[in-house]
Amino acid sequence: MTAEFDPGREFALSLDEADELGSFRERFNFPRARHGLDPVYLCGHSLGLQPKDAVRYVQEELEDWGRLGVEGHFRSRRPWLPYHRFATSGLSELAGARDDEVVAMNTLTVNLHVLMSTFYRPTTSRCGILIESTAFPSDRFAATSQIRMRGFDPAHALIEWKPRAPDQALHLDDLQQILDDSGDEIALLLLPGIQYYNGQLLDMEDICARARAKGCFVGLDLAHAIGNVPLELHDWAPDFAAWCSYKYLNGGPGAVGGAFVHAQHLDGDGSAQLLGWWGHAEETRFAMAPAFEPAKGAELWQLSNPPILSLAPVLASLNIFHEAGMDRLRRKSLHLTDYLGRLLEHRLQDRVTSITPPDARGSQLSLRVTGAGLDAREVFRRLEQQDVVADWREPDVIRVALAPLYNTFADAFDLVERLRSAVEGADGRR
Ligand SMILES: *Cc1c(COP(=O)(O)O)cnc(C)c1O
Repeated sequence: MTAEFDPGREFALSLDEADELGSFRERFNFPRARHGLDPVYLCGHSLGLQPKDAVRYVQEELEDWGRLGVEGHFRSRRPWLPYHRFATSGLSELAGARDDEVVAMNTLTVNLHVLMSTFYRPTTSRCGILIESTAFPSDRFAATSQIRMRGFDPAHALIEWKPRAPDQALHLDDLQQILDDSGDEIALLLLPGIQYYNGQLLDMEDICARARAKGCFVGLDLAHAIGNVPLELHDWAPDFAAWCSYKYLNGGPGAVGGAFVHAQHLDGDGSAQLLGWWGHAEETRFAMAPAFEPAKGAELWQLSNPPILSLAPVLASLNIFHEAGMDRLRRKSLHLTDYLGRLLEHRLQDRVTSITPPDARGSQLSLRVTGAGLDAREVFRRLEQQDVVADWREPDVIRVALAPLYNTFADAFDLVERLRSAVEGADGRR
């Protein structure tokens, strides 16, 4: 990190001037301001902005459908039959995986179920699924229902890794304690790469190693990690991982998500997964024979032919990631959040503080309004009134993400100035 820091706007502009990724901002469409100020979009952790190319990609698919009808499966610009494969190299690059370990398919929660149907193999003595106690509700629901569907009782089999008060962070020592005490009863760890609420980046490699040592399977939910931090899934070797593509991946609302299955599990014959025709070997799929022939690699877990219109924007976005490069994006992201942290300390010390662990973060900082007597909700309302697009999480957290593809140091500066004005406004109202 640079040692240099200056709290003025000029300094922010000079950092933007020196930013080698600065030109990528122009490749995105920005929502219009609702209240007349220059909008500051900080919701890439929730819905990434639209790449301008995504519009063209979707239009091309609509044109090809109109122009070619069913022939589009073979003769369109990007033939629909192997369409998911156009996402493969982009996804394997971001996941740190081999091409045959990843596949674009479904949406996140669906993929968690599809993959748990293979990798959650409960027995009477080992039926537990470990999640973090503050898990995103969908992950908790998915794990709970998997346990129940296999005939076990979530009250006993759902095991929770709790964050420590007062910092709210998850500590690996606590995970180790659970594994030491009851690792033999845990079939699967289902954990995030980055915790959605406080933005904590978990040491995925370490978690995988600890779980392996106890004979547990590991599944990673990378909703907030893919396209945000570099991943090395093949080497870290979780058994599986899944993600959505509409957060940092900028794939658009409800975009097709992705899945990773580690190489060690890729020689399956189709007896350990839910089956559909898209998991059948492509060469013989259209013989429509009753016997199942497994596709190679993670493609075996595919069920249906993919929704082309929801996959097209993902392709457009993956090209941008490939051009920018995850290492450069990570460097800029760390610089952006470091700058934002310092500016907050300088301008809003004791009134707004980040609860994201400073040494374990992605592009998101979760801010807590801590000033005595301040109404956090009112601060957030006043922030929205100034065209800052961030999000509110009960009871008192404002999440902001500085996505290095399209956010700037000036965005960070403007956020802090508007936050300060929101805090002062809310304070004056008391
Ligand atoms: C965003 C998010 C989801 C959303 O699930 P969908 O199936 O894509 O609707 C699930 N889990 C986590 C951890 C998330 O951050």
